[in-house]
Amino acid sequence: MSVKLEHVLKDENLIKNIEEIAKDTALLHGVLMRTKETPNSPEVVSYAPFTLFPTPVPTALFHQALAVQTHFNRLVDRVSQNPAFLEETLASTIKVDNFTARLFNIYKQVQEEHRPQVLLGLNRSDYMLDHSPDGGTSLKQIEINTIAASFGGLASRTPDVHRHILKVANLPEESNNVLDNNPAAGLARGLAKAWELYGSERWVLKCLVNIPVIRRQFEDVCRSGSLDESRRLFVDGHEIAIVYFRNGYMPQNYTSEESWEARLMMERSLAVKCPDISTHLAGTKKVQQELAQRGVLERFFPDEPETVAQIRATFAGLYTLDMGEEGDKTVAMALANPDQYVLKPQREGGGNNIYGTEICEVLENLKSSTERTAYILMDKIQPVPVQNYLLRPGAPLKLNSCLSELGVFGAYVRKGKDMVFNECVGHLLRTKSSEHADGGVAAGVAVLDNPLLV
Ligand code: ADP
Ligand code: MG
Repeated sequence: MSVKLEHVLKDENLIKNIEEIAKDTALLHGVLMRTKETPNSPEVVSYAPFTLFPTPVPTALFHQALAVQTHFNRLVDRVSQNPAFLEETLASTIKVDNFTARLFNIYKQVQEEHRPQVLLGLNRSDYMLDHSPDGGTSLKQIEINTIAASFGGLASRTPDVHRHILKVANLPEESNNVLDNNPAAGLARGLAKAWELYGSERWVLKCLVNIPVIRRQFEDVCRSGSLDESRRLFVDGHEIAIVYFRNGYMPQNYTSEESWEARLMMERSLAVKCPDISTHLAGTKKVQQELAQRGVLERFFPDEPETVAQIRATFAGLYTLDMGEEGDKTVAMALANPDQYVLKPQREGGGNNIYGTEICEVLENLKSSTERTAYILMDKIQPVPVQNYLLRPGAPLKLNSCLSELGVFGAYVRKGKDMVFNECVGHLLRTKSSEHADGGVAAGVAVLDNPLLV
C-alpha cells in the first residue's frame, strides 16, 4: 500500500470527514440498495456497502485475470458440450447429493430431446491473491460462477466514488489508478446478441424498439407458461427469447415440485437460456476439481498449450474425495493439516464451506462413507490482509483487517458450434473483514470495492 494512503487511514479527523462525503457521493452516483427493513419499498433506499478506499492490486495480476477470461468462457462452454465428461465427473456427486442429482436429471432429459441452437453465457470468475511463504504473489481462482453472477451493475458506479474520495484525501495521483469499469454494458451486449440470433429466425427484428422484460418466479412459469408444438416458450402470452436465471442455484430456490417442472419446461424450450442446464452443471465445484487433474485441460484444448498454461496458472490445488485410494489420500492430507484447506460441498451462494478443525470433524464422520463424495477439498488461498474501513448503513466506522476477492465477468454467445461473441466485459472487487471466512456481498459479509492498480 502506498505510504500516503497508510497515513490517511490513521488520520481520524480526516477519515470522519471523508466518511460523510463518501456516503453522499455513493448516493449521488447511484450506489444504492433497498433496505433490509423495507425490501420492497420503492421509497426507501440506502447506499450499498462499500470500502472507504480502493484496495491495492498488482497491475500484472489484474491484467492476467482479464486476459484469461475469454479462455475460461470457451472452457466452460466446451465442458457444457461434453456429455461424457459431465456424466463421468458428476457420477459420484449425484449419488449422494440430491440437489445436483435433480439438476442432472433435467440435463439427461433435455439431452435426449434436442440441442438448442443458441447459448448465452454470462459468468464471473472469482480470484484471490495468494501469498506464498517465499514472498511471491499469484492469482488463484476461487471458483467460476456460471449462473446468476451478480453485481455487474453496481460495479460501474463505484469507480467514480473511490476516485472522488481519493481526491478529497489529497491523493489525486492514486485516483488515476482506479479504472473505469462497466460490466453491465458488456453483459447487455451478450444479451442483445443472443436476442438477435433468436429473433432473426422468428420475428426478423421487427420489435427491436420494444422488448418486454418480464420477471417471474418458477411457480409463475409453471402456472402461466407453456411450450407450443415447435417448443417456443410462452409466459403470460409473451414469447420468450431469453431466460435469464436470477436464481435456481440453491435447493431453497425450488420451493415445490412446480419449481422443478418450470425449470424443466424452460430447459426444453427453444428460448436461449442463460445459463442452460449443461452450463449450470459445468460450473459445479466437482467439475472445477476434475478440470484441475493432470491432463484434463489438454483434452479440452488439444492444440492450445498456451491456453492450457494460462488457465492452469490460476488453479489452486483441488483434490477429489471420491471413494478409493486417491480420495483416502485427500482425507489423510486434510486431517493432518486442516488449516491449509477448505472443504467445499456441492453448493453455491456462500456460507457453505468448512474450515480448520471443523474439517476434521466432518471428515472423521464421513471418512469411509460415500457421503464424503458430496465434497471436494481445495488448498486454502492465503491473501495478505489489507487495512481499510468498511461502510455499511447503520454500522459504526472502524479500521478493519480486510481480504479481497477479484471477480472477472465473461460474456459469450454460441450459435450451433460457433462462438459468435466472446468477451471479458469487466471486473468486480469485493472486500470483507478477514474474520469472515465465507460469504459475498449479497450474504451481507463482503462490500463493494475497486482495485487500485499498483
Ligand atoms: P460459493 O459458491 O458458496 O460462492 P465459493 O467457492 O465462492 O463458494 O466460496 C465462498 C467464499 O469462501 C469465497 O468467496 C471465499 O471468500 C472463500 N473461499 C472459497 N474457497 C477458498 C479458498 N480455496 N481459499 C480461501 N478462501 C476461500
Ligand atoms: Mg463464490
